[in-house]
Amino acid sequence: MKGKVIGPSQVEDFKCIGAKCEDTCCAGWYIGIDEATLKKYKKVKNPAMKKRLDKELVTKNASEEHAAKIKLKNNRCAFLSKEGWCDIYTNLGENYLSETCTLFPRTFNEIGEHMEYSIALSCPEAAHMILLNEAGFKLNTLENAPNQYKISAKINLNEKKPQKWQDYLVAIRNVLIGLLQNKNKSFETRFSDVEDFLLKLDLLARKQSLKEIQALIKAYEETNKLPAALKHPFKEKWQDKALELVLNLKALRAEKKWPSTFYEAYYNDLLKGLGLEESDDLKLASTNMQKSKAQYLDEFMVKYGYILENYFSNYIFERLVPLDGETILESLVKIEIYKNLICAHLIGIGNSNEVLQPETVVSFIQAFSKVFDHNEIYMYKLLKLQKK
Ligand code: SF4
Repeated sequence: MKGKVIGPSQVEDFKCIGAKCEDTCCAGWYIGIDEATLKKYKKVKNPAMKKRLDKELVTKNASEEHAAKIKLKNNRCAFLSKEGWCDIYTNLGENYLSETCTLFPRTFNEIGEHMEYSIALSCPEAAHMILLNEAGFKLNTLENAPNQYKISAKINLNEKKPQKWQDYLVAIRNVLIGLLQNKNKSFETRFSDVEDFLLKLDLLARKQSLKEIQALIKAYEETNKLPAALKHPFKEKWQDKALELVLNLKALRAEKKWPSTFYEAYYNDLLKGLGLEESDDLKLASTNMQKSKAQYLDEFMVKYGYILENYFSNYIFERLVPLDGETILESLVKIEIYKNLICAHLIGIGNSNEVLQPETVVSFIQAFSKVFDHNEIYMYKLLKLQKK
């Protein structure tokens, strides 16, 4: 293992809850099998399992990274038992699980001199552990992290002698998470601080001014000083932008069903709650949004604001913000799309059900993550529509 392992402390306690899981990772997804696992499957002696593997594995049309894929039955993995257990695990043992099944929902990234370990919120158990942690999202050095894993991303950093803005990744992320966790401000103001910081950083990165970037980070680290507010369309009029995004979602849904029945139900609540089920009347939707925001989202944030704080802290950590876009500006637009969509859904869901409970919010975020974090095409299309 390279260097120390850093991650939120909950990842060390994470355990798949198997049959108790309400939205198992085997539902609705492409289940890829790597070359090494396929070789093992070809040598299986257990006659019943051999017959099933021959029948349920498809080698044609598997993606570039995978040698085969598992067929889905009723939108679930063909090896998932009625009780919700994995038949490969039960009959052949853990060593026969593919890389994907062994790893999910864990991600390991090699960042400069250390490793980072995170868990995906599309897993219901991971979402509960990360989001419902009232003490807040905190990064620690992990002593009991697994020592065998597949690395998803490897980023070389020159932290001692920075040569490019990317070398400041760790410090930048710490500032962003610090801004989000400033309990003296409302969540909206904190998010706006994150936007200002990224906008300023983008300007300096384009000027290639490493000295000014260092000064920007230092000013925040030493005195909490922030750059002056900058104008940006998503920031100025986030509710209008959020409604535009909802219409974009309607266009995506018209092309194809959502790959999650759980998300489909929340999407329907969103449209109902904003009055966009039958029409695209943005004026009416805007009035509904204003009214319901105060009644549901603002009320919810007073008591349970830590849920969105944890969500976005985890987002910044696991996606290596702002390295998750082609530019810092694109990374900013992506996090704004997520923030605007999540807030619009919570307002719609609250209005539609006349209540917004923490369990509902966690369950919505899990279903939303399952659709939008694992299907890059949606973000690609939303970004494209935003640029029009
Ligand atoms: S989604 Fe998470 S808890 Fe559910 S089956 Fe998969 S790993 Fe286990």
